[in-house]
Amino acid sequence: MDAVRALLPEMQREAARLDADAAFPAAMFAKLRAAGLLTATLPAALGGQGFGEGTEGALALLALFQLLGEGSLPVARLYEAHVNALQLVLRYGPASLADSCARDAAEGALFALWVTDPPAGGLVLDGQKLTGQKAFCSGAGAATRALVTVAAPEGTRMAIVNLDGATILPQKIKLAGMRAAVTGAADFSGMTLPPDAVFGDVGDYLREPVFSAGAWRSAAAALGGLTALVKLHRDTILHRQRERDPHQQARFGQLVMQHETAKLWMRNAALRGCLEDDGNEAITAYINLARLAVEEACLTALTLFQRGLGLQAFLAGGAPERLMRDLATYLRQPAPDETLVKAAEHYFAAPLPR
Ligand SMILES: Cc1cc2nc3c(=O)[nH]c(=O)nc-3n(C[C@H](O)[C@H](O)[C@H](O)COP(=O)(O)OP(=O)(O)OC[C@H]3O[C@@H](n4cnc5c(N)ncnc54)[C@H](O)[C@@H]3O)c2cc1C
Repeated sequence: MDAVRALLPEMQREAARLDADAAFPAAMFAKLRAAGLLTATLPAALGGQGFGEGTEGALALLALFQLLGEGSLPVARLYEAHVNALQLVLRYGPASLADSCARDAAEGALFALWVTDPPAGGLVLDGQKLTGQKAFCSGAGAATRALVTVAAPEGTRMAIVNLDGATILPQKIKLAGMRAAVTGAADFSGMTLPPDAVFGDVGDYLREPVFSAGAWRSAAAALGGLTALVKLHRDTILHRQRERDPHQQARFGQLVMQHETAKLWMRNAALRGCLEDDGNEAITAYINLARLAVEEACLTALTLFQRGLGLQAFLAGGAPERLMRDLATYLRQPAPDETLVKAAEHYFAAPLPR
């Protein structure tokens, strides 16, 4: 944590260049690797530090995502995929695969999580042979391993692929924000997987509570982006000596409220997601709402930020403008309507959150 905190100014400094070039934060990941982050969420038996384990580990992992999100949302997003991929292997994979992934991570492999199929020509597994593509691949061209979902004859399964054998396609889409997460597409046609690469039962990827509860991690990263936004707002207003204006004071008070609301939701969401000490439905309903509460806090904060800073927030290439683009883009997580409705259905039938 101390090592990551020390890297924060550098992460924020280099964000402008990486955004302009849509370039992967390679130098920063080398430093995070050296700080032990790629293995931090593994259990001690596999060389990890237990981030995410028990109450203390859950709060530590929350603090880590928040810190990374404050430094750079693209870095936090890339790291979140790495953590997610390793957790799925540990949960659903055989011990041999968990061992080899832990070894790879210790040797510096960055894992991606590519589960989005393009509208046509998605990833198909026949025997051990892959055909097809994945879309929205963050870390394309930089990550060295990926957890992918594959359409096998028996149903959807997960596989760990060595990305040396995949073709990274030229980016057809250009995202307005999160450009340093280098989100592209990959073609796996012609790759043959080793026998233990495909793992889990049919449907494990979507199995609850893990599938929905995992959203707490990306919400924690977004909370870090919100922290950066609130600090930038405060610094800019102070720099312009506008802090005595009652309208600016009221806006800043509202901003701090939004931030604190998101923080309180996330503390409970991280604990529920990591400890799994409740029924599946109760865990997923709570985390679904937490995710949306953070989204709403961020959207409200973006409006307050724009009103408070005025046109200064829109100077192309400036830190406020980049942060707004990154945060607004990162908030677009799948199926927000369905998430809210499902949580509402749960709380109509079950007790309110304890
Ligand atoms: C920066 C970034 C990096 C990403 N990296 C990866 C990655 O590495 N790997 C990966 O696999 N994916 C990645 N993704 C993609 C991500 O997993 C989701 O696919 C994406 O965020 C979905 O966003 P969306 O707003 O299009 O969602 P949608 O779910 O399409 O939601 C858009 C709107 O449509 C509504 N809606 C959804 N479904 C329906 C429906 N059936 N009928 C009517 N309305 C509907 C929603 O409620 C919402 O209002 C990334 C996305 C971002 C932003």
